[in-house]
Amino acid sequence: MKAALLRAFGAPLTWEEVQTPVPGPNDVLIQVMACGTDGTDLKLLEGFGYRPELPFIMGHEPAGLVAQVGDSVRDFQVGDRVISYNFFHCGRCHNCRRGREQICPHLDRILGVRGVPGGYADYLCIPARQAVPIPSEIPWEDAAVLCDAGCTAFHAVDRARVKLGETVVIFGVGGVGSFAVQFAKLAGARVIAIEQSANKVHWAESLGVDVALDASVVDVSKEIQHLTNDWGVDCVIDIVGREETLTLGVNVLCNGGRLVIVGYTPDSYSLSGKHFAQNELEVIGTRCGRRRDLDQAAQLLAQGKVRSIVTERYPLKDVNAAHQRLQSGEVLGRLVLDIPQQPSSTAS
Ligand SMILES: [Zn+2]
Repeated sequence: MKAALLRAFGAPLTWEEVQTPVPGPNDVLIQVMACGTDGTDLKLLEGFGYRPELPFIMGHEPAGLVAQVGDSVRDFQVGDRVISYNFFHCGRCHNCRRGREQICPHLDRILGVRGVPGGYADYLCIPARQAVPIPSEIPWEDAAVLCDAGCTAFHAVDRARVKLGETVVIFGVGGVGSFAVQFAKLAGARVIAIEQSANKVHWAESLGVDVALDASVVDVSKEIQHLTNDWGVDCVIDIVGREETLTLGVNVLCNGGRLVIVGYTPDSYSLSGKHFAQNELEVIGTRCGRRRDLDQAAQLLAQGKVRSIVTERYPLKDVNAAHQRLQSGEVLGRLVLDIPQQPSSTAS
């Protein structure tokens, strides 16, 4: 099969012929039809954060058709449409048993990120328990971006406990944010989106937010005070995670408000214990999502309750150009790589 290989950090991927993986008794082989890309891929390319053993096949948002199943697999058949749940959790620890598998302390492998080759290839192989069926209504490119963007956004809004009639600020309307604003609206909130350019503000408006503010031209804190009659907002979902967004986020919360941290950077933020205690503020961390978040996000997309966030498509063989485009910071929503139709044979 063909795959885009990461052979050296800081260098472009190389497009090569490699061995097609062979599924074990509990695995499924998936013919990749589309694969999303995001900032995690750019970090991987540079070797920041995660540093997989090289050579490595990236791609943590794959969608495709089951091409072959292992002898012991009962839940999937050849031809099923699936996406992947990327966290290879132990399934036995306290967190896994409570359905919080994404914070399993034994997570050692993440598809397309560390330890398991991902979707920048014609095929990938995962244990059947990591595969998630997707409804036929969802096009491949939209299915792909559920793996990370959809799952993370659904989980963040769930963790945020967004309620009918609340006001929620969301910092960052990229891939995750484009789903998060829609899920928060579905939960019944008034949503204020904060972005950094006119284009992204227009994009946020097209997703149905109540107000979109361009932080490069307005004083966000003042605008939010004005929009809430000096009361503040019930919840801030920070998908950026810089010191300035964390600071601003805390400052615009009403008493009893919740700061939900989804995105992060190397930045730290020192908090005032007195301010948090006396105003009963909450800080909630959230990491990607559980398998059931992925299921639920897929259902909402299939039902047409949220719209597609995919705005650009590149063929997989042009992945380096796609990464350059991503690096520009101008992509709205998500960019997706398409894998051309393959013959059904898995040979070579
Ligand atoms: Zn576990």
